[in-house]
Amino acid sequence: MRVIDVRVGSATHPGLRRRVNEDSHLAEYPLFLVADGMGGHDAGAAASAAVVTEFRGLVGRDSVGIDGMRAALSRARLAVERIGHAGRAAGTTLSGVAITQVDGNGHWLAVNVGDSRTYRFADGELEQISVDHSVVQELIDAGELTGEAAGRDTRRNEITRAIGAGSGGDADFWLLAAEAGDRILVCSDGLSGEVPEERIAGILRDVIDPQDAATRLVHEAMLHGGRDNITAVVVDAVRVAGQDDGDDTSPAAVTSDADEDTRPRAAAGGDA
Ligand code: MN
Repeated sequence: MRVIDVRVGSATHPGLRRRVNEDSHLAEYPLFLVADGMGGHDAGAAASAAVVTEFRGLVGRDSVGIDGMRAALSRARLAVERIGHAGRAAGTTLSGVAITQVDGNGHWLAVNVGDSRTYRFADGELEQISVDHSVVQELIDAGELTGEAAGRDTRRNEITRAIGAGSGGDADFWLLAAEAGDRILVCSDGLSGEVPEERIAGILRDVIDPQDAATRLVHEAMLHGGRDNITAVVVDAVRVAGQDDGDDTSPAAVTSDADEDTRPRAAAGGDA
């Protein structure tokens, strides 16, 4: 039995400046993921697509646990390593949620490598679940940069972990008890780097239908410049196993920092 009943929407667009869309996504129960590829000559698109292909093998299960996620990540890493072009290593971010169960109760198992983002919008508050693997995030953690300055920092596109791109960086995981009314947003930095979080929260609050919300978020990123590929996946929990049946989808507030083209620090790199 599915442990969370969901309604889902997704949208993606190359944006206004780029020829190729190197983002890929998966929005099928029980996996809701975004991958933002990097690497010249379309290697980024191939890398993000390869990762999604590996996770697609888990679609249709009632839930996926951390062992299943780690196994898929290992396969994804191997698949991406096979993609490199002429010495340029392909790479990709990965962020999102798997639906998992703990003692029969529905949970979100969030995963992150790189600077794509997973947020939860609940009780009117937008909360960033994932923590960016980026140079800027490290500087913020060290107290050397404020969130406001981070958005203008020239290093804002340098990530410190990726799948591929010469990175052996591990994924971070978070386990969160799901509640009916939760709205998960997974997005590439073409959204989070372009649109202030207050505006993202406002759209999640106002646009009830998840497909309409995803489409609207992508449009909003283009209105703000559309300098990067843009992907948004919106997942609403309608009913959660282990809870009394509920049915509300609400929304509300935020803070911010952000960017545009993602590249690995040190190793490899390049963009299309
Ligand atoms: Mn990007």
